[in-house]
Amino acid sequence: EVPCFPFGAGEKGRSADDKWLLGGKGANLAEMSSIGLSVPPGFTLTTECCREYCSNWNGELPPSIWSEVTAQLKVVESKMGCEFGSDTNPLLLSVRSGAAISMPGMMDTVLNLGMNDVVVEALSAKTGNARFAWDSYRRFLEMFGNVVLEIPRSEFEEELDNIKFERGYFEDNELQVDDLKTVVSAFKEVYVKNKLAFPDDVNEQLRLAIGAVFGGWNGDRAIKYREVENIRNLLGTAVNVQSMVFGNMGLTSGTGVCFTRDPNNGKNELFGEFLIDAQGEDVVAGIRTPQSISELETAMPEVYQEFKKNTEILEQHYGDMQDIEFTIQEGKLFMLQTRNGKRGGEAAVKMAVDFVEEGLIDKKEAVNKVLPEHLDQLLHPSFSDTESDTYKNAVVASGLPASPGAAVGEICFTNEDVVQKSEKGIPCVLVRDETSPDDVAGMYASEGILTARGGMTSHAAVVARGWGRPCICGCSDIKIDEAAGTLTITKEDGSTVVMKSGDFISLNGNTGEIMAEKIGVSPPAMKGDLEQFMTWVDEIKEIDVLANADTPDDAAEARKNGAVGIGLVRTEHMFFEPERIGQVRQLILSKTEAQTKEALDNLLPYQRSDFEGIFKAMDGYPVTIRLLDPPLHEFLPGVEDEEVLQKLSSQMSMTVPELVEEIKSAAEVNPMLGLRGCRLGITRPEIIEMQVRGIIEAALNAIDDGVDAIPDIMIPLVGKVQEFKDQAKLVRATADRVFEERGKTCKYRVGTMIEIPRAALTAHEIAEEADFFSFGSNDLTQMTFGYSRDDVGTFIPEYKRKGILLDDPFVTVDVEGVGQLIKSTVKNGREVKPELKIGVCGEHGGDPRSVEFFANDAGLSYVSCSPFRVPIARLAAAQSAT
Ligand code: ADP
Ligand code: MG
Ligand code: MG
Repeated sequence: EVPCFPFGAGEKGRSADDKWLLGGKGANLAEMSSIGLSVPPGFTLTTECCREYCSNWNGELPPSIWSEVTAQLKVVESKMGCEFGSDTNPLLLSVRSGAAISMPGMMDTVLNLGMNDVVVEALSAKTGNARFAWDSYRRFLEMFGNVVLEIPRSEFEEELDNIKFERGYFEDNELQVDDLKTVVSAFKEVYVKNKLAFPDDVNEQLRLAIGAVFGGWNGDRAIKYREVENIRNLLGTAVNVQSMVFGNMGLTSGTGVCFTRDPNNGKNELFGEFLIDAQGEDVVAGIRTPQSISELETAMPEVYQEFKKNTEILEQHYGDMQDIEFTIQEGKLFMLQTRNGKRGGEAAVKMAVDFVEEGLIDKKEAVNKVLPEHLDQLLHPSFSDTESDTYKNAVVASGLPASPGAAVGEICFTNEDVVQKSEKGIPCVLVRDETSPDDVAGMYASEGILTARGGMTSHAAVVARGWGRPCICGCSDIKIDEAAGTLTITKEDGSTVVMKSGDFISLNGNTGEIMAEKIGVSPPAMKGDLEQFMTWVDEIKEIDVLANADTPDDAAEARKNGAVGIGLVRTEHMFFEPERIGQVRQLILSKTEAQTKEALDNLLPYQRSDFEGIFKAMDGYPVTIRLLDPPLHEFLPGVEDEEVLQKLSSQMSMTVPELVEEIKSAAEVNPMLGLRGCRLGITRPEIIEMQVRGIIEAALNAIDDGVDAIPDIMIPLVGKVQEFKDQAKLVRATADRVFEERGKTCKYRVGTMIEIPRAALTAHEIAEEADFFSFGSNDLTQMTFGYSRDDVGTFIPEYKRKGILLDDPFVTVDVEGVGQLIKSTVKNGREVKPELKIGVCGEHGGDPRSVEFFANDAGLSYVSCSPFRVPIARLAAAQSAT
């Protein structure tokens, strides 16, 4: 039995929940028709058909699917009262792709299918509108040729442009019947030139078009898009075969696209465009300049009222902002598509808050409507002072503010250029006449996008918004000469600025302003809707979010972002500052006790004041401080670094060659597995004593100042419980000594990192001794996989391409392997100590999918991540709350 479902003409039954089977478009067409909106009738061939086609049929449509198609077609014919391929009363079809996850512009659609020399005459006679009939024919020839037979679209466009030029027309809808007939002949010639036959048989057209849509699933563009968007485990695309309605029948017809709210700022007003006497993707493709949706109210008041009503019905029904495609045929409105609309970060938060206030959804649903990427955008910098003269004077042109945010980067005119440069870490802005699906890789890698053509719903705008890339579209003041590598900007006063590939440009996606130079940006703030939204996030989430912070400034930033403590202070990060590093080097290389002591005495005040600052910033929240961890050679200068060597050798009363010898002898073959973590502490206890003294003295000082300091001291890289015992004993003895000196005490805890598989496997022993565990998930991943995390770049991309790895395990925690170690550690640890505090402080703490695992499957008490990821981790924690 072939899975295939009808929709339209009041058809009920299937719903949006079926989107895995029907694809998003098909499921929503079915849903719209079942709630009574007017949807042209048709049917959906499911994603299962696509899988069948792709895996077993090699470009051939299986007979079982075809016989179902003909059966369903009969039903559509009777609903429409006309007949596919008829020479008197013909039915035309659209063949539309649609996967479960919307992939804008990635898959192809064929309109006006069922046309040939006979049908065009029949359609013309039946409607009395020859211009419309021939216009539909030329559109079909182009789409079918391009999508199904893969003739480059430009070959058709060239013919069309020539004919328009000869006749002195600017716009497609100026073409008259005779012109259109000429276009049709010219298009048929294009087929001949390509040695391809245009099938006159309408059934053959349908068979080939369905096959092409299914086949498009495995096209390069679709594959690239899925890769970039991390879309997997989909069966394929569905195909929707639908009776055509015509927006190109004259002045009472048209087509448009519309968001039910403004996808940039979330305002509750329709945001869209339409074109009179046009069809299909004319609006999106920027063929003519569309009119704003608000103008529909005056152009066709009744249609507008019905449309407005529909948008309300749909928002109520889906509880979300909708992105709608519609067509008007001779004054009658048809709904052709709806889906939850893509939106920018600011809009996502505002709409989530508004929907709750309007009673459409509850808080938990609202929390689920904002994606981590949305918050990420809001947490990105914006131009510091757009009111300043410096800013205002820098503006050279402006275009449509298609996607918000600040983008600063080097001008690149090609996709490849962006990809190459961004791999080297150079920020790029992609500048193009217009973007096409072939540009997705470059758009993704860019900081922002600028186009000369296209409107607010153009390809560039939609894709950029989805990815949070700032984008300015339709800037007619710019002229791009790709060959010469120049961008010429005509300013308001008529003067021109010529910029070259590689020059810096800045885009303000909120206003559409373009600056021909590098403009300063400033960090974001939490206020208004965002602040409101984040209070709901905190109400709902079930685990704590802490931050990794090494300095008082980072700690303050973390607090601002809502961290309730510090999960990791990397004490060694404080060592790199210029005035400290010399002392650290002396400490490492010293041959005498006196030199060691001198270095430690000099370092102590630095550590103490840093810790004090952090305790103050974190008043009342725990501060987890990791004792020295990295291999010591990381602090040593290069043996070629003359100037540093000179200075250090005189500081330590050595000769330069002696010093070089010392440096060389400190080198290890495999430093990541060498003398680091507690191994260092065990062999050089005096360093640990200094650090612990710094921590405890700082805590006592802070407490003296009225601060609630909560130090948690963490011992790194433990593999055996004996290591932990050794270090914990040293920590406690040192703390006792300070308490005695100061005549007062404070509370502190001693815990350990779990980052070596052996520690995970012996968690029950370590839990007997330790006050808390913190998973160092970076090292745990490194050591569990045996992948050097500094060298994975050489093979991970290939592993992902081949499907050996689905994710980079250093980005998203490996649930099956590393995750299993984490789960068993938690279980064994808590068996010994039920109240054991357990968290994670690796990079994974800020990765939404990992956070879900830590919260729900592993049962951790907290995650800790870098300060700017804290809001994202809070959101992820709330979204995974059950
Ligand atoms: P995409 O996924 O690229 O948006 P669609 O399948 O939605 O592709 O088709 C693109 C456009 O083609 C639609 O927005 C609509 O304007 C037009 N279209 C599709 N089906 C029909 C139809 N049955 N009648 C009229 N126009 C249609
Ligand atoms: Mg499209
Ligand atoms: Mg569409």
